[in-house]
Amino acid sequence: MLKKCTKCNTYTLKDVCKCGGKAVSAHPPKFSMIKEQKYGKYRRQAKA
Ligand SMILES: [Zn+2]
Repeated sequence: MLKKCTKCNTYTLKDVCKCGGKAVSAHPPKFSMIKEQKYGKYRRQAKA
């Protein structure tokens, strides 16, 4: 998966960028946040 350096914002396929910065997946956090919100909703509905 394509990753992005947190230091120089360069896209790379490796965990560590050429500049030595840490590379993270280009687009992950948004999706997990939406998932958590959805689960929270379901939980509330189940309780009420
Ligand atoms: Zn870099």
